Amino acid sequence: MGAIAAGLQACRARIAEACREARRPPDAVRLLAVSKTFPAAAILEAYRAGHTVFGESYLQEALGKIAQVEAELAAETVGQTPPPPIEWHFIGPIQSNKTRPIAEHFDWVHSIDRLKVAQRLADARPVELGPLQVCIQVNVSGEASKHGIAPAEALDLARRVAGLPRLTLRGFMCIPAETSDRASQRAQFRVLAELLRGARAVVPSLDTLSMGMSGDLEAAILEGATLVRVGSAIFGRRDYGGRKPEQDEPI
Ligand SMILES: *Cc1c(COP(=O)(O)O)cnc(C)c1O
Repeated sequence: MGAIAAGLQACRARIAEACREARRPPDAVRLLAVSKTFPAAAILEAYRAGHTVFGESYLQEALGKIAQVEAELAAETVGQTPPPPIEWHFIGPIQSNKTRPIAEHFDWVHSIDRLKVAQRLADARPVELGPLQVCIQVNVSGEASKHGIAPAEALDLARRVAGLPRLTLRGFMCIPAETSDRASQRAQFRVLAELLRGARAVVPSLDTLSMGMSGDLEAAILEGATLVRVGSAIFGRRDYGGRKPEQDEPI
């Protein structure tokens, strides 16, 4: 077995064990494989190991890799039944002048933090693709360096985003302050879980808590995560090649 297939398997085992501990069904948590900085070949390796849900943070890099991966899969399957499609998730910070390619090439966006970005995504979403699935990113740690809307403003933004056409609001996402202290991890995830409970009184269809990464997915699952975003535990250490990662993203 290759390193990526082994990483996926180990990660699925961690999720299953955390679900057991949380007394939640094993299929209650989806795994998003975060492939940022890794080449299209790594995505294809994970795909061949049976994984179809991928997350990217940098738009230009992502667009190139999506095109490469889709072309590769199309070339392999000429005349055969099409393989299971890949679900692409955008999880990075969004500049409002870059919303069109995001709306055109992704199935999900986790990082909406202001109404203007949501409106622009809605305007740019091609009708034939069906609604773009979106989450609102919340700054649960209150650190100034972090992206995301303040928890106190999240409910109002959720109400407005839920009213936009061509978007389906699914829930909330967070990147907590990095800490190895389990209690502090859980306290931050609990802020997001409580927000979702409150928001469901207004938008009952909300079903997504996008929280938990390589270092803290167990704590997130104990607090109700429905989707964990895992990069390094699957693909290995990231090499940014001299480029600076965003301030609030895990390195
Ligand atoms: C990079 C990244 C991840 C994955 O982080 P790991 O610690 O490698 O699992 C998850 N979410 C976001 C938003 C990221 O930018």
